[in-house]
Amino acid sequence: MTDPVDSQERACTELEVARAEAPLAPTASRFGGNPYAEAGESWPTCASCERGLSFVAQLDLRATVVREPHVELFAFYYCWHCAPREHERDAWEIRSYLEPKDELAVALTPPDGVRSHPECRITLRAARSLPNAEHVTSVVGGYPRWLREDATPEDARFVAQLDSEPAAELTWGDGGAVFLFLSNDEPPAWWFVFQC
Ligand SMILES: [Zn+2]
Repeated sequence: MTDPVDSQERACTELEVARAEAPLAPTASRFGGNPYAEAGESWPTCASCERGLSFVAQLDLRATVVREPHVELFAFYYCWHCAPREHERDAWEIRSYLEPKDELAVALTPPDGVRSHPECRITLRAARSLPNAEHVTSVVGGYPRWLREDATPEDARFVAQLDSEPAAELTWGDGGAVFLFLSNDEPPAWWFVFQC
């Protein structure tokens, strides 16, 4: 007989974040440092306050349990001036890439005064996830580990949870986290939930 709890178990990829000792390859998953970008892109700005957004993190999903047809790597930017705690599309941005390659990467320079986070490497660890599990680490795939009520958006799938990460000087409110989802639209849109 199958244990009903076990049948809900999902694979996930936990993220261990530590200060980078050496520069990372452009496509490497990271918190802080420099974002992956390709020719023709410019540094993203906040449509609400028009300041430059801060680069928070990028994840190369190819090394994780999450498989998305439209996204292999994404870079997450956030406005620390507006500090949105709800889904406000114009005060944060996620850029998605298919077939990102180190040799395609271009360096973007943030505008003056944009808050930056120190470059941190990410060690990936295969793990199992259950609904309502205790919050442990930043994670890709599996179940979101909500700090308060379940706030899963309708018609969307969970991609990643980015915690407050001291090594990256990253704090979401009082020890909070952001939860990133992709809508089930075609092509999908990113969705953002903040909890602390
Ligand atoms: Zn702003």
